[in-house]
Amino acid sequence: MSYVVTEKCLGERYATCVEVCPVDCMHPGEYQGEVFLVIDPDTCIDCSLCKPECPIDAIVETEDEDPEWAEINRKLALDEGWTEHEPVEPRPRNDPPHKPGNEIVNP
Ligand code: SF4
Ligand code: SF4
Repeated sequence: MSYVVTEKCLGERYATCVEVCPVDCMHPGEYQGEVFLVIDPDTCIDCSLCKPECPIDAIVETEDEDPEWAEINRKLALDEGWTEHEPVEPRPRNDPPHKPGNEIVNP
């Protein structure tokens, strides 16, 4: 099992979650022309530290909660080489979300 970055992160990518991951398994990239970030499911140790760091609550605790995006995380991380991508600068956590429907819930 692994934590999963869901569709809410697409076009947002605050990247504030990356700094707390003890096993460095969160990787940025572009998906469908928008900035995104995924969790490498083979490396995630389910420590839970990242979830409260996401300002817009884009992370779920299990693959079962969002199987479609769990598969996308797996594919991008492992098949499309996102684990090799360089880290990106985080956005300020109070930066307003870019997309309508997203709101800051973990300021
Ligand atoms: S903090 Fe949330 S929106 Fe930002 S990269 Fe992490 S999961 Fe995506
Ligand atoms: S649950 Fe822990 S190990 Fe998994 S992505 Fe989040 S911070 Fe990293």
